[in-house]
Amino acid sequence: MKITIAKGDGIGPEIMDATLRILTAAGANLEFEEIEVGEKVYLSGNTSGIAAESWDIIRRNKVFLKAPITTPQGGGYKSLNVTTRKFLGLYSNVRPCKSLHPFVQTKHPIMDVVIVRENEEDLYAGIEHQQTDEVVQCLKLISRPGCEKIVRYAFEYAKQQNRKKVTCFTKDNIMKQSDGLFHKVFDEIAAEYPEIENEHWIIDIGAAKLADTPEAFDVIVMPNLYGDVLSDVAAQITGSVGLAGSANIGEECAMFEAIHGSAPRRAGQNLANPSGLLQGAILMLNHIGQTAIAEKVQNAWLKTLEEGIHTYDIYNEGTSSQKVGTREFADAIIERLGQKPQTLSAVSYASDYTMNLPKYQRKAPKQKALEGVDLFVHWPGLEANELAEKVQAIELDGVKLSMITNRGIKVWPEGFKETFCTDHWRCRFKPASGSLSKEEIIHLLSNAVSKELDVVKTENLYTFDGVAGYSLGQGQ
Ligand code: NAD
Repeated sequence: MKITIAKGDGIGPEIMDATLRILTAAGANLEFEEIEVGEKVYLSGNTSGIAAESWDIIRRNKVFLKAPITTPQGGGYKSLNVTTRKFLGLYSNVRPCKSLHPFVQTKHPIMDVVIVRENEEDLYAGIEHQQTDEVVQCLKLISRPGCEKIVRYAFEYAKQQNRKKVTCFTKDNIMKQSDGLFHKVFDEIAAEYPEIENEHWIIDIGAAKLADTPEAFDVIVMPNLYGDVLSDVAAQITGSVGLAGSANIGEECAMFEAIHGSAPRRAGQNLANPSGLLQGAILMLNHIGQTAIAEKVQNAWLKTLEEGIHTYDIYNEGTSSQKVGTREFADAIIERLGQKPQTLSAVSYASDYTMNLPKYQRKAPKQKALEGVDLFVHWPGLEANELAEKVQAIELDGVKLSMITNRGIKVWPEGFKETFCTDHWRCRFKPASGSLSKEEIIHLLSNAVSKELDVVKTENLYTFDGVAGYSLGQGQ
């Protein structure tokens, strides 16, 4: 099978060479087609860090093993990782975090957690706007297809890997619409997998529990931003971020990598630990069905670590027997292909179960009704009552100002004088009865222009099958 590889920057070429040598020695059925990504491409004037022809190769081969790259400092360079994930629809980021006690020092000797992170949406849509002198916003987009795909992936992964529990982390006590949707979809899909335990934690206490008692968790699924942060925490508390790999999985393509960066200061010295990229490669072998080779490599890797053959980053007087460089570490693994660890548990990836990941089917549309509109106003004053008077001047017959909030908290009617207000105000208009029309919104906006009220954006307030699709003001 032909796969695309990119050797990347810094320590990238060394750890890629080590990884490919191990895969080849283990008998992996792989052919490598190399592309150039990263620093050189960026500095040649291509702000995406990858040439158009390279996309063709990645899309043709479908499986991509990528070493870390250096994103040059300074503006204008786009993250190749984020672009790749979104262009190729790699919606699922899977990161196993398992401690290697007593061979790698950790406070959590029995940790074995897999973080499944949504990879395409949430605050990473990158849709940001400055709206007033004082306020910028970043849109957090959570979609039903996004939630269904990632949650189903987590349960299917658990089933395939013979894992017992899937936990969901969200902050839906605050973000009732966006995180609320993620949690709701989790509950819906969990019900389809009665053989797998499921639970939901509010992210703050869940994160604290994960850092303190990781053995309480098995597979954890979460939206993009939380997953970004907590997958690094989880990898770090196993003992080292240098030992973890990750998979980015889509319906068509997949990308595999180490979780660490290009460590430029260690480059070219035969020092770097190739384990992170090797772990990415093992996820890849499992993904493409070469599970016997994946097992063989992983068991040889565990045996090597167990014998105390360690690169500088995990070398420790007490547990290490030999400090080796990148090449020698790879040689040691190759020598141990076919052997199993004695103290650490040997892995067995064989599974009769093929993951069932159907394409998303769009649901029948719900009955949608327009119930009101929020006009966001840039106003540099301080007194909400004063603004209310100005805003009431644009009211229509039967469409009245019902509330003003500032950063979400209600400041009119009956606000608190203690509430700090910025220059960014949300003014909610509701019809006295029935629904609102788009013409009435245009009318409100045109009144705002004639009254010199600076409306910076509007949000329509809809119900879907009678259920409100918007939040109330805090304190309302
Ligand atoms: P880094 O992960 O490269 O390095 C952090 C620390 O870990 C350093 O002390 C480094 O020496 C050490 N380290 C990392 N990998 C190691 C390994 N395999 N063996 C031994 N030690 C290792 O993070 P950074 O210094 O913040 O970033 C360096 C560059 O990498 C930046 O340009 C950044 O943009 C890039 N980066 C790329 C990716 C990627 O391509 N996926 C991810 C993160 C950072």
